[in-house]
Amino acid sequence: MQASKRISTILGGGSDGWEVFMRAREMITEGTPVTELTIGEHDIRTAAPILQDMHRAALGGHTGYASIPGITALRDAIAKRVTERTGVPTKRENVMVTPGGQSALFAAHTAVIDPGDTALYIDPYYATYPGTLRGASAEPLAIKAHASDAFQPRAADIAAVAKGAKSLLVNSPNNPTGVVYSRETLEGIADVCKEHDLWLISDEVYDTQIWEGEHISPRALEGMAERTLVVGSMSKSHAMTGSRIGWVIGPEEMVEHLINLATHTNYGVAGFIQDAALFALELGEDFETEIAEPFRRRRDLAQTVLAGQNVVGVVPNAGAMYMMLDISATGMSGQEFAFALLDAHHIAVMPGESFGKAAAGHIRVAMTIEDTAFVQAMHQLCDFAKEKSGR
Ligand code: PLP
Repeated sequence: MQASKRISTILGGGSDGWEVFMRAREMITEGTPVTELTIGEHDIRTAAPILQDMHRAALGGHTGYASIPGITALRDAIAKRVTERTGVPTKRENVMVTPGGQSALFAAHTAVIDPGDTALYIDPYYATYPGTLRGASAEPLAIKAHASDAFQPRAADIAAVAKGAKSLLVNSPNNPTGVVYSRETLEGIADVCKEHDLWLISDEVYDTQIWEGEHISPRALEGMAERTLVVGSMSKSHAMTGSRIGWVIGPEEMVEHLINLATHTNYGVAGFIQDAALFALELGEDFETEIAEPFRRRRDLAQTVLAGQNVVGVVPNAGAMYMMLDISATGMSGQEFAFALLDAHHIAVMPGESFGKAAAGHIRVAMTIEDTAFVQAMHQLCDFAKEKSGR
């Protein structure tokens, strides 16, 4: 018996980009310590008071089927947060609670894509994007952003392939580059969406991790609220990756469709998780700043290390928990460099090629380990690059 084309082509053939990560995990299983700068997971766990609230909610009986669009108080809290942060009046009816941002990405695309429609996305990209788009029956089409533009996508490049496409997926602050899209970039994107009648799916799961400048939600730009679906998550903002809690924000009629989709797929998010998410949101902005702070600090530490050498280049990262480093001076691909660094120093980073063609010759460093070990790893990485470059 054969699996469907849709599901069997999710990976799209070829490498899935996780080879270095898998090799590092094998080494760890075999007993070799590895410094892991790979995935976007905090080095702290979910805060105890959030877990205590989750426990209280579960013991209190919130363990049955929960409200599928999300419990009213949580939808209201998310709507309030979005209104305050973006200035776009947002009501409960604009909010659909989902099991994490990943599920929100799939739901948002399923809501706007008919089988075979072209779904645009920007390269470099979060590694699951093309698979998510294929899973939603789309034909994914990547548009390269350029290292020479600090990976800010060009509106003209999007416009050049927008005719007949259905949607465009953007992500700022960006994984993997750490780049925050400027107002000019986002206005250019918004103009293309309006001109070519595209849905914009805006993945804003890193919106609390801003180190320089400001996060602008493209939903707030003129004429965009009716054609934008925003993907949000508490994974990164509240260190709740395992709780699987996120949302889609969009026009009321789209949220109605998303509720139908959830009713016939995941049937919503566990009630005790939703209660704990509400509790966590009510901890306010100070708590979110506290969760983001270690990444801001490590970015500064890394910049000091990088300033002391001239082999490894750094993409100006104004947000998110990653740095994208240009290692092309070594003459190696990102993949070759990452494997060689793992073998020589037991430091695991992600090859730029895991995130698309545009990031070839780069590596992504997740700033997700304790400061002293992080600084040491950055020194080792730079020394290794220097040695390989022959400078
Ligand atoms: N979007 C981006 C850009 C991400 O980096 C991630 C996770 O790393 C997600 C979405 C999905 O996050 P989650 O499903 O944990 O909310």
